[in-house]
Amino acid sequence: MTLHVQYDHECLECGAAYIPYDSEVPCPRCGAVETERFDFISEALASLRFNKASFGQYTPIAWFVGSLGDHVLGTLFHLLDEHEEQSDGTPFASFAEERLDEADWADQPYMKDHVLGIAMRVGDSLGVR
Ligand SMILES: [Zn+2]
Repeated sequence: MTLHVQYDHECLECGAAYIPYDSEVPCPRCGAVETERFDFISEALASLRFNKASFGQYTPIAWFVGSLGDHVLGTLFHLLDEHEEQSDGTPFASFAEERLDEADWADQPYMKDHVLGIAMRVGDSLGVR
């Protein structure tokens, strides 16, 4: 089994999909600070720790993406595993930024920094350097 984060949200001002994960996180596209909040970091950490303990890695064998929360979580799995497997010792912050720069964000370029912010919060909590 795996722990999913079933969460979807769209900004009421501009319609951008994002996760208002901390009290001060605005919409990454229009900057609106909405009242909607979701404790994504805690749920993501529970899922990440579960995978690591169960499978020895963050990425599970199968991952069905059923929501925006799962989509972001899937990106975190790969980032953390690839960072751990790299041999050149690049710090997680630089590694994550490079990887997310290379990703194809299609019509959601604002998601890059948004996901990077989430990755930094999660990396800190996991003690990843
Ligand atoms: Zn917005």
